[in-house]
This record gives sequence, structure tokens and C-alpha cells, in this order.
Amino acid sequence: MQKHTDTASGSTESENGASPDAATKFDAWHTLSVDDISGRLNTDQEAGLTSAEAAERLKRVGPNSIAQAAERSAFSILISQFKSLIVGLLLVATVIAFAMNEQIEGAAILVVIFINAMIGFFTEWRAEQALTALQRQTVPVAHVVRDGHEHEIPAQDLVPGDLVVLSAGTRVPADGRILEAVRLQIEEAVLTGESVPVTKTSEPIAEDDAALGDRLNMAFLGTTITDGRGRMLVTSTGSQTEVGKIGTLINEVVARTSPLEQQLAQLGRLIIGVVLILCAVIVLAGWIRGTTDFWHMMEIGISLAIAAVPEGLPAATTMTLALGMQRMARTRALIRRLPAVETLGSVTVICTDKTGTLTRNEMTVRTIVVDQRHFQVTGTGYEVEGTFQEGNQTVEASANESLVQALQIGMLCNDAAIEREGDETTVLGDPTEAALVVVGEKGGLDRDALADQFPRIGEIPFNSDNKRMVTVHQTSDGQHIEFIKGSPGSLLADSQHHLRDGQAVPLTSEDRKYWEEQNEVLAGAALRVLALGRRERAEGDEEGESGNLVFIGLVGMSDPLREEAKSAIEVCRTAGIRTVMMTGDQQATAGEIARQLGIDHDHDGRPLRLVHGKELVDLDDQRWEQAVADAGVFARVSPEHKLRIVAALQRQGHVVAMTGDGVNDAPALKEADIGIAMGIKGTEVAKENSDMVITDDNFASIVGAIEQGRIIYGNIIRFIHYLFSCNLSEVITVFAALMIGWPLPLAALQILWLNLITDIFPAFALALEPSTPNIMKRRPRDPDTPILPPRLIFLITWEGLLLAAVTLLAFAVGLNWHGSEGDGLKRATTIAFMTLALSQVFHAFNARSRNGSAFTRHLFANAWLWGAVIICVLLQLAAVNIPLLQRVLNTVPPTSSEWALIVTCSLIPVAVVEIVKHVQRMAGKGSDQD
Ligand code: ADP
Ligand code: MG
Repeated sequence: MQKHTDTASGSTESENGASPDAATKFDAWHTLSVDDISGRLNTDQEAGLTSAEAAERLKRVGPNSIAQAAERSAFSILISQFKSLIVGLLLVATVIAFAMNEQIEGAAILVVIFINAMIGFFTEWRAEQALTALQRQTVPVAHVVRDGHEHEIPAQDLVPGDLVVLSAGTRVPADGRILEAVRLQIEEAVLTGESVPVTKTSEPIAEDDAALGDRLNMAFLGTTITDGRGRMLVTSTGSQTEVGKIGTLINEVVARTSPLEQQLAQLGRLIIGVVLILCAVIVLAGWIRGTTDFWHMMEIGISLAIAAVPEGLPAATTMTLALGMQRMARTRALIRRLPAVETLGSVTVICTDKTGTLTRNEMTVRTIVVDQRHFQVTGTGYEVEGTFQEGNQTVEASANESLVQALQIGMLCNDAAIEREGDETTVLGDPTEAALVVVGEKGGLDRDALADQFPRIGEIPFNSDNKRMVTVHQTSDGQHIEFIKGSPGSLLADSQHHLRDGQAVPLTSEDRKYWEEQNEVLAGAALRVLALGRRERAEGDEEGESGNLVFIGLVGMSDPLREEAKSAIEVCRTAGIRTVMMTGDQQATAGEIARQLGIDHDHDGRPLRLVHGKELVDLDDQRWEQAVADAGVFARVSPEHKLRIVAALQRQGHVVAMTGDGVNDAPALKEADIGIAMGIKGTEVAKENSDMVITDDNFASIVGAIEQGRIIYGNIIRFIHYLFSCNLSEVITVFAALMIGWPLPLAALQILWLNLITDIFPAFALALEPSTPNIMKRRPRDPDTPILPPRLIFLITWEGLLLAAVTLLAFAVGLNWHGSEGDGLKRATTIAFMTLALSQVFHAFNARSRNGSAFTRHLFANAWLWGAVIICVLLQLAAVNIPLLQRVLNTVPPTSSEWALIVTCSLIPVAVVEIVKHVQRMAGKGSDQD
């Protein structure tokens, strides 16, 4: 880091101390020196603003946000309810009713319109709210220094003058002038269209009209930090920023329609067409046969059309997905794109990181190899208590010069910090590095003293491509020295010397072999292995130039497995989902951990392969597919490999979920069917490119989300099954009666009533089925199966026929008892109406499972369903007993023998369906359904 003492630039001194408001209008920040900038913004380069000053400025300049796409207001949702085909049809029916002087009927239809709209409104509004809440969960944050301390705050609270910390993998939260840049690389495609990251600097730039892309000392809101770190002073916020000026929305809007919803909308259009034709036929047939007059027939036809059109289906589906998404949030899976809920159910492969996801990412150094000696380190976690042992002897670390050097490098080539307050230990930064701090403390080293002795003057941060970290330090005699830690293979390859008894001696090929073997020994014990090295810097050397290292030694650290991970992997296996571990760690470590977790074999006990990253170099597409075909572990992979792995799996027909955390993972996260970002360890950019964020970074949460995805999809199928069979039964009942030459078994308003009652309570209750037994014991759903596969169509058809048959049966008995004239007919239609209504209500139990019995111990699992049944029964009782409803619906209270007829007939479908399911189960068919 360079300290800035230059006060070059000139020109603007007179404006020093100007108010920050005025400052935001200023447009040549890049020409100023760092000191001018902080003066002008009236802020401190080290301590930032005070919180009081920041609050004051926030009041004055307003929040740091750009107007987002407006949410749909409740009002606009309400209005849209009246713009539908159904409402149009209902209005026609109202007009007909009033024209025929049937005021009560007309008024009743208006009430239906109103109720219909309210239901539609409620459904959509609920879904909308869930989606908005979802967007709110992902508000961007900024790391800001205020009152001398670093805080994480919502990015919209930033004000001009704030001192912001920039780190790789985040978005720049406002426009600012860069004070410090350490290999800071920013990709500015949103502004400049240029996708190659630019290297930033803190030096002033002379031309005051430099193009945005050339303002190398500025960072702009919405651009992505791809590498390095830095600090900036905020110069403008919100709509004053460059992005704000052009009004671009940075956050892509959350996708709102899923393939399922699109399929449903398509299906809906098809059904509308069919239904309208069918209803026209019914109207004509009834009229020609003289069943009733034309206008009454029209009413019946329209009511049937309304009943049969599954208009609310897409909205109800959205709501089901959205509610499911909220349920998932409680199990630590935040869905970022709604369609993911449904895709989750058909995942066949999960490609997962090792560290932190399958393991706990709590590193503890166990072994250090230096001087051809193995030192074991005792202690647990990040506690300082622990000793060094050789064999069974406790040794003083300070007594061994090479060991001391290793510990020093571990502490200095390190960005982690450990904060201890009482019993609380917080790790800031990478746990791998924290472990090195702890082991240094165990060895009695003082990190602060070391840092003073070897001040850091440069660094190359770790990333998963280079797999090493380099820091440059100044020694007391003014020399520069580099400390390096990273993967053993690459360090060894760059080494010409190694350390013996504290002295650098040439590295022979035997020594090399020795180190390679030791690496294997440590890795084979499932330890994460890091090599340490140093390099004297000669005059004129490039920072981080490779070669000529002195190899110091190896450090092996353990990382306990997550207990839940093993059982979650087992669950995946029985669910037909392959777990593939992708890690930057080396083969032996990865292989041992895979063995402990059981990733090394598949569903049928066949072994899965362990693939080394170097096998993946220069493969063509076909070879890639071979490589991924039966792989369980990929070791030493780079983010770029991940992308190819995902693509190859997809070409083989897999639905791939993939985890990622770094900036480099973004393309693979995008490519995967379900990109999963880690909530804790993940970078902002990884999250933005994901479909789902796991808040606890835990593999088990992924599996939990997949289970929820399967349940939700199952529920959507349940209510589709239910709704369609009910609607069909209404159409068939009327159509069949007409064909036979009977009077109409249902009145127009009765049909509308049925449509409101059954469409709503039982259908929504089915959408809330809490779980399905054995859902994780089945193979994943093929995403290409249509929403209504032939089997389901067949089921819906015969069940619809069955419901219609019992209704017509009851109607026939009613006609037989009471005749088909006047009050007799009224009794018979009441019987038909009640039978159809109750049989539909009971049919909900059939729709809970397509092959399982409704009468198992899960009968009471869905309390919603029982609530819905009770409400529906009460409403039906009201329909025949309350005078107003009697008049509107043209009903009479049934006698006890009529009740016996109604109840018997409406229970028949449940009995028949149960018997059929039983027979099917005996025949062993349909066992793969729920
Ligand atoms: P993963 O996250 O899959 O465990 P990483 O990409 O983090 O893998 O690490 C790969 C390798 O890079 C490790 O085996 C280790 O040798 C090295 N490494 C990991 N973290 C650091 C670090 N902070 N500094 C230097 N080297 C590291
Ligand atoms: Mg890592």
C-alpha cells in the first residue's frame, strides 16, 4: 500500500470544505489528489465519517438508491381481476338475467363476480407479497468505515464522504474516488460495455474530461470487483451516480413465470377453446330439444363455461410456489427465482463444494512437517491451548528454527483475524488462515510484533485459480522478501531450495520425492495441506514472479465433517440424486473425505470415480461427457472446470444443481439448472447469479430444499387433478342429462356456487399438503413430462365421469320419487346439486394421493383439508336451509330419506376410487407416484 502525500492537482483548493451537497454536483473527482478529495468531502481518510454526520448527510441527500421497477400495487392487481374472460361471461349472464326480469338472479351473479374478483385478488396479492419479500431479502450491503470502525450497512444508507471498503466478489455500492488499490480489478460492463476488468489505481488523472472507462481512480456504482481489494471515498450516491444518471437498473428483476406456469397458461387456453365449443353445443342441443327456453340455456352454458375454465390456475400455482418458497426460507433456502422451486424437484445431480458445505470449515492445524520431522499439534478449534509434540514428546516450538520460520510465514502471509471476547471466538476472514494464526499463537509467536518487524508492502491475494497467496515484506535491512503459502504441488515446482535446520539448502530430487510423499501422507489422512515458502527478492523482480523459492514445509489441517452431510448424501442416493464433490483441494484429501461421506459409490453400490483436474485439460465435448459420466469427486478443479462439468452433465440429460461462492463461479452458477450460492461464504456476485442462496452454507439445507421442491410440485399436481375432475363432472352431468332427455339437473347459479365452493377451499387445502411419505425415496421427476401426462388425463376423466354418474343416479331417484314437474323437480334438482357438491368435497381425499389410500395414518396430516371440508359442508347446509340462499339457488331442505340418498351417493366415488387404488397397489402398478 502506498501512503499518499502528494497534494498535486491544484485548481480546486479554494473549494475545500465545500458542503457535500455541492460536492456531489462536482464532476472531476478523478483529477484530484486523495487529500483534496477527503478535504472536499469533509471526511477522514482513516476513520471515515462519524455516524452522526452520516445520518445528517443521509437526511440531506436522500438514500443511495435508484428507483426500482415499481411493484404492482394492490389496486392494479384488483383492477386486473375485472379484465378476464370469466368476468366477461358473467356480465353477459347478468345482462340476460336482468333482461328476463330475474332481478335476484342478476344480483346474485354480480355477487359472484365480486367474490370471484376477491379470490383472484387475494391469490395474486399474496403471491406478489411473497415475491416482494423475496426481493427485500437480497438488499445489497456495503462495508463502510465510520467512527474509525468497519461496519456492514445497507448500501442505500451510504452518503457522500463515506469511506467504503472494496473487496473481490462484491459490487461497488456507490460512485467513489479510490484511496487505496491493491491489485484492485473492476469489471465495468454495466457502464462501459467492456467486459474485461480494469486495474484501478489511486493516482490522480490529469484530463478532466477523461471517459468513464479511463477514470482509473474511480469506482462506479453497480460495477463488479473481480479481484484484489481497496478503499474509496463515496463521491455520489443514488441518482447522482453514473449509473443513476442513465437510469439503468442493476438488479435484474426476479423472473416471475416458471415453465410450469407457462405450460398451465397454454393448457388453460386450450381448455377455454374446447369448453366454449362444448358449451355452445350444449346450449344448442338443449334449445333444440326444448329442454328449456334459449335464454335459460344460454345461462346454463355460460355457467358451465365459467365452471369449466380453470382460470385461476396460473395464479393459484404462483401462490403455491410462492408460499412454498416462504416455507423454504424457514429451512434456510432463499429462493431468488420462483421457477427454481419447481426445478428443484427434478434435480438429478448436485455438484457441491467440499469446504464449508460438506465440512464445517473450522480448520485446525494438526501436523507441521519441517526439517524432515513431523510435529503434531494438540488442541481443538480456534482455542489457543495446545502444544507441539514429536512422537509422544512435548517440544518447545521456539527451539526449532525451521518450525519458527514456518509459523512466522503462516502468520504473516495471512489476512485473517481472530477476535476473542470471553468465551466468544469470532473468525474474520478465511478459516484456513485463521488456523495458521492460532497455531502461531500456540507456538508463542506475537503477530503484532512480527508485523512490525516485517511490514507488509505488497500482496497477491489467494484465489482458486492460482491456489496460492503471496505477501511482500520489508526486512530490517531494507531488503524485500516474499512469503508464500499455497498448494504443495505448485510451491514445490517453483522451489530450488528447502530449509534444513533453519538454513536454505539445495533441493535434490530425493528431497522432492520426500516432500511429495509427505504431502500424500497428510492428504491421505483427510487433512487439507498447505505448503509454505519464501523468496528473497532481487532488485527489479516482478512481484510474485515464480521460481526460486525456498520450500519451508507442509501444514496439515483438519476440518470436521458436518454430521448432517453424511445422512443428507444418503437421502440423495435413495432419491436417485447423485452427489458430486468439486474441490480445489488435492486428490488424496478429497478422496478420503469422499470415502468418509460415502460419495464414492452410487445408488446401486457401484464405485464412482475420482477425477483429477489435470485429466480435464484440453478435452473435447465428448471426452468431457465421459469424464463426468460416473464421477463422484473432482479434485483440484478450477472454476472454469466447474462450468464445463455442469454443461457436460446437462448434455447427458441431467438436471444439475451446483454450489459456488466466488466471483469466478458466477458463469457455472448461471449455467446450472439450480445455481446455489453460499449465504455466509459466498460473494455478492455469486449470490446475484444464483437461483437459490443457502443461508447456513450447509449441504443438508440443499437436500431439504429439494425435498420441498418435490412436495410443492406434487401439491400443484394434486390441485390440478382435483379441479379438473370436479369441473369435468359438472359439464358431464349437464351434458348427459340433456342427451338422455331429462330436465336440467343443475341451475345456472348452482353451477356458479359449486364453482366458488369447490374451486376454493378443498383445492387450496390440497396445495398445502405438508409432505408426502416416501417423497425422497423416488427417482427425480423428468422435467420433460407434460403437466398432464396421459395417465393423469385418464384418471381425471374417469373420476369426473364417476362423480357425474353418482349425481345423475341421485337425480334419477329424485325424479322417480317426486316427478319432473314444479316442486317435484325442485326437490330432484336439490338432490342432484347436493350430491354433486358433497361428492366433490369428499373427492378431495381421493386427490390427496394418486395411488395411496386416503385412510392411512396420514389421514389427519393436512388440517387445512379438514377445515375446508367442514366449511364446505356447513355452506351446503346453509344453501338448503337459509331462506335467502334457498331462493337464489332454488333449493328446498331435503327430507331424511333424501339426505340418506345424497350422502350415500356422494360417498360412492371415495369407495370406488379406494378399491381401484387397492387393486392397483396389489398389482404393483403406479408405485412411483404419489
Ligand atoms: P476448496 O474450497 O474446494 O477446499 P480451495 O480452492 O479453497 O478449495 O483451495 C484449494 C487449495 O488452495 C487448498 O488445497 C490449499 O492448498 C490452497 N489454499 C486454500 N486456501 C488458501 C489460502 N488462504 N492461501 C493460500 N493457499 C490456500
Ligand atoms: Mg475454499
